[in-house]
Amino acid sequence: TYVVTDACIKCKYMDCVEVCPVDCFYEGEVMLAINPNECIDCGVCEPECPAEAILPDTESGQEKWLELNATFSAQWPNV
Ligand code: SF4
Repeated sequence: TYVVTDACIKCKYMDCVEVCPVDCFYEGEVMLAINPNECIDCGVCEPECPAEAILPDTESGQEKWLELNATFSAQWPNV
């Protein structure tokens, strides 16, 4: 799965949302989150992000963001 990280804060450019084939982005007040249960790991959103905020969860140090994306996406509206 891919995760949205803190580089998204106050950016929310939203181009990632447009390209996601399974609509698994969720929107909070200051950033977006990806629902890890819905993400099909296609990777098309990653190059669309101008802030480079979207990373694969396999990258080191992303465990915290995987957890946060799961928590946030359960609470925020789908976009
Ligand atoms: Fe959506 Fe693909 Fe990005 Fe996952 S990797 S959030 S399925 S566009």
